[in-house]
Amino acid sequence: MRNIVLTWAQVAQHLARNGRSACITIQKWQVEHPRVAGMRRSLGLPLGQMADWRMPYPGCHGLHVREFPDHYSVHIDRVNPHCDLPGHVAADAPAVGGGAALGALVGLVLGESAGAMLVGALIGGALGASATATKEKAACAAPRRPRRA
Ligand SMILES: [Zn+2]
Repeated sequence: MRNIVLTWAQVAQHLARNGRSACITIQKWQVEHPRVAGMRRSLGLPLGQMADWRMPYPGCHGLHVREFPDHYSVHIDRVNPHCDLPGHVAADAPAVGGGAALGALVGLVLGESAGAMLVGALIGGALGASATATKEKAACAAPRRPRRA
């Protein structure tokens, strides 16, 4: 059945029906290229992907596609970073924001300066990003494939 190619709108509908926390893997030959659907290149936590793509959704949600050499890993972000970056970090990568806030506090207490607070925030944010990347990798480790309607 290699002649059936899904559209990203169909993939988004599948994810919306099956809960927003779902993370699925789709082989590249099963779906159109993200650019064809009007998706925009984006940034995401580094999980070994070649590129990140996002399709805006109504209400600031966003289909987030990670492109790997032979497949895509897909999920829906609760908040699309293109319309609300702080909201995206808080809702979809809370460890990044929490790590930055904790790091800033530690930097302020230890360094007693704004510079030390900034360094602490950067280190804390990086640690949080690493923790979030590990969690996302685990969540996507046993992917479910979309059923064809
Ligand atoms: Zn995402």
